Amino acid sequence: MSESMEADVVVIGGGASGITAAVAAAEKGASVLLVEKGSTTGGAANMGMGFFAVESKYQKAQLVDFSQEDAFRLLMEYTHWRVDARLVRKYIAQSADTVEWVEKMGVEFLGAFKYFQNSTQTWHVVKTAGSNVPAERAASNLYRALTAQSEDLGVQIMYRTTATRIVVEDGAVTGVELTGEDGVPRVVECNAVIVATGGFGNNPTMIHDYMGYEWGKDLHSFRIPGVDGDGLSMLWATGAGRTEPVMELTFTTPGVTDVYKTISETMRQPNLMVNLDGLRFIDEEIMNNTVFTGNSVARQRQRVAFTIINDEIVADYRTKGLDYVTFHHNIKTMDKWDREVAAYVGGEAVEASGLSDLHNEDQKHQKNFWVCDSLEEVAAVTGIDLKNLQATVTEYNGYCDSTDSQFFKPYKYLRPLRGGRYYVARHFPAGYGSLGGVNVNDRMEVLDTAGLKIPGLYASGTDACNIFGDSYCFYMPGNTMGFAINSGRMAGYNSMEYIDSDDF
Ligand SMILES: Cc1cc2nc3c(=O)[nH]c(=O)nc-3n(C[C@H](O)[C@H](O)[C@H](O)COP(=O)(O)OP(=O)(O)OC[C@H]3O[C@@H](n4cnc5c(N)ncnc54)[C@H](O)[C@@H]3O)c2cc1C
Repeated sequence: MSESMEADVVVIGGGASGITAAVAAAEKGASVLLVEKGSTTGGAANMGMGFFAVESKYQKAQLVDFSQEDAFRLLMEYTHWRVDARLVRKYIAQSADTVEWVEKMGVEFLGAFKYFQNSTQTWHVVKTAGSNVPAERAASNLYRALTAQSEDLGVQIMYRTTATRIVVEDGAVTGVELTGEDGVPRVVECNAVIVATGGFGNNPTMIHDYMGYEWGKDLHSFRIPGVDGDGLSMLWATGAGRTEPVMELTFTTPGVTDVYKTISETMRQPNLMVNLDGLRFIDEEIMNNTVFTGNSVARQRQRVAFTIINDEIVADYRTKGLDYVTFHHNIKTMDKWDREVAAYVGGEAVEASGLSDLHNEDQKHQKNFWVCDSLEEVAAVTGIDLKNLQATVTEYNGYCDSTDSQFFKPYKYLRPLRGGRYYVARHFPAGYGSLGGVNVNDRMEVLDTAGLKIPGLYASGTDACNIFGDSYCFYMPGNTMGFAINSGRMAGYNSMEYIDSDDF
């Protein structure tokens, strides 16, 4: 941007989508100003590991039998065709090329991975220099590379600067009002604006008003600093059409997940899960699809659920290893079980990772894991209805001797609870952040309430992520970052096409 505060394109938000949009627009010759509230690029995606692509060179090399057509059909059927098929198709079509596009910037990948057993192998996990093992936050390498590329292309990044208003004159975008570190508001004149502010995962009021959750009570989602809903509020203020935002849901055991990892992973295996009424409500085989489990937990009373195992199950896992292993947590054995249980019960923290810092103090200290000598004690400490719990356990034990005629859980996961010590974990809905909120077309152009585009206005990433319908599609992992990057890339290219066109 020149001294006179002008640019062809202003990108609001320097996260996964914004930094990608900036590179794409600059690649097409635009002068680009990127405005980032925080002091770094990458946003929430610095916490991630990789993104979705299909028919990539990695998948071909790994003999992954999952085509663009398969991905398209899966997503459209999953969403009952309630999402924009044109946008879904374009996103899927561009995804493999995006892997190679960032490779040219120096990004390396470990390959294509699943997130859970029944998912597809679409998660392209970024490699960390000098290491061949998957690492939490590996995707931050990707954002460093994109940032270096943007600088090479002349993108000006204003850190610690917050966009506060999109200026629309005579129906078209003409500028952005922003406030930098000096606290003085100013307007940057521009021809196109790309909004990529990452939704409202850090805004409990919006979470409550748009999704009905009370953060910290019945929702324990990540609170990534900066993603406060600014972009959606600014877009809606210009007359942009709204879509219904949803939470990218998962489930968590506050104070346990990501801290006591062996306890956490052991209590997320496909064993008996009940609600406060002591009733079973899920085929626990689907528990490793954390979106589906989050959805089911969210519809229980007080939005809580409990998994219960006993010594016999623990012994089985000690011998055979866990049923479900996640690439992300990589806990396969019970080696640390005794130490972690003793530490948790004794109130001592072990292996606390940075992720636990995202929970508030109450959540960190709330008791969500118990060791009990009887079902009576389980009911007493958790508040689960004792009579129903006893009846459920008796019924469930019966299924373990025959078949699960209630929810059809496969026999191999049917482990009875007949005495010994009981281990109980309480789970709550959690989430990575919000998804969607503003209406866009397949060019990432923002549409007004009548469905007509607002010239020069684009949105990408989480703010515009309406392609999953009511629930994130975890069957194709890496999809939120995949959409963020690919929609940002589209918005960057299309904004420059618009500026070069007769429409402008
Ligand atoms: C722990 C964790 C792990 C994850 N792992 C994965 C994964 O492995 N794969 C995957 O697909 N997805 C993953 N995700 C989701 C992924 O991070 C998001 O889909 C992605 O970051 C969305 O990109 P975005 O650009 O829309 O938002 P963000 O990356 O969050 O960026 C938004 C940016 O906008 C800035 N901003 C906001 N308001 C303003 C304003 N008014 N002015 C200026 N700047 C502003 C913010 O500071 C922020 O930097 C993960 C998320 C979390 C929380």
